[in-house]
Amino acid sequence: MFPDFAEQLRLREQQGLRRFRQVVESPQATHITIEGCDYLAFSSNDYLGLANHPDLIKSACEGAQEYGVGAGASHLIHGHSAFHHQLEMALAEFTGFPRALLFSAGYMANIGAVTALAGREDALFADKLNHASLNDAALLSRAQFIRYPHLDMAALERRLAASDARRKLVISDAVFSMEGDIAPVQALLALCEKYHALLLLDDAHGFGVLGQQGKGSLSVLAEQERHPPNLLYMATLGKAAGVCGAFVAAQADVIETLIQSARSYIYTTATPSLLSRALLTSLELIEREEWRRNMLARNIAQLRQELQSLRWTLLPSMTPIQPLLIGESHEAVRISQQLRERGLLVPAIRPPTVPQNTARLRISLSAAHAPQDIQRLTQALQDLAA
Ligand SMILES: *Cc1c(COP(=O)(O)O)cnc(C)c1O
Repeated sequence: MFPDFAEQLRLREQQGLRRFRQVVESPQATHITIEGCDYLAFSSNDYLGLANHPDLIKSACEGAQEYGVGAGASHLIHGHSAFHHQLEMALAEFTGFPRALLFSAGYMANIGAVTALAGREDALFADKLNHASLNDAALLSRAQFIRYPHLDMAALERRLAASDARRKLVISDAVFSMEGDIAPVQALLALCEKYHALLLLDDAHGFGVLGQQGKGSLSVLAEQERHPPNLLYMATLGKAAGVCGAFVAAQADVIETLIQSARSYIYTTATPSLLSRALLTSLELIEREEWRRNMLARNIAQLRQELQSLRWTLLPSMTPIQPLLIGESHEAVRISQQLRERGLLVPAIRPPTVPQNTARLRISLSAAHAPQDIQRLTQALQDLAA
């Protein structure tokens, strides 16, 4: 029997779980136009305000003029252009690893890296709140998939100690996308060293945002500790970097292994070179313009300060992801809707994306938000809570 799609969709709708896309009619920015209406958005991962930066647009145009639009082939078959190559070298330099490998998306990078490094004989150890792409990668790898409670290093250690798998790979978000909290990078690395495990750290939300020059979540480590042989550092280029794509940085043998075996790298067309050209410019801005991170920090501090005595509480987070805990799903959706009526976009996140009874508004801040933007949001929330 074919599944009854219409019936399933109706059911979803009844439960309030059907999702709808909205057509955006402006560039990504703090102020966006959706279906003719203007909104102030707190829903973007464009943390540094680079997605519509004139220098990136100019670089993309120049890239198109030099190398056209389509890459034409995969990286292993003549699709790997000089811009891709330059960007990989710049990313290696930026992160301090010997090599970096470009993927067309973070989803693809995680699928490729995990499945290339772990198979039937191996074991994967994963934080319960990891991003969906890491979970999907784990299932696709056919390795034993062992999850541990969020940030619980003692639980991870017990599981590592009990495993006799051929190879062990620990996979974790560095900044958790629905919580905004940060993985204990130092403790993770120490455990991985002790139990001879590899560590894949997904810094989708930390790259460009955390640390001096936006070097990301590894900045908590001393310079000489940031590049151990068992570490793979992954980050996306569609969030703070404002463009598209992702990369994995690691030791040369690891990267060479990915080139040989990461199927989501091998069996797909290379991204347009013009994106790599734009990303080279983005990387320069990330490194040079510390003021963007300072603005972001100021916005985070202002939001937290102004919501201090609200009846809903902000989860503890030092990152641009500031979840406001509401609890009940319908209430979270209702508040999100009421904000929208006031021209403010803040998505409600419900189970199963987050644990039961922890429905929340996920406020995403950007360096491009002005103090009065933050104030408009906090004032609206005060009014709605009254
Ligand atoms: C967004 C995200 C990804 C996927 O990256 P894309 O480039 O958007 O495919 C992977 N991991 C985490 C933690 C993310 O937040």
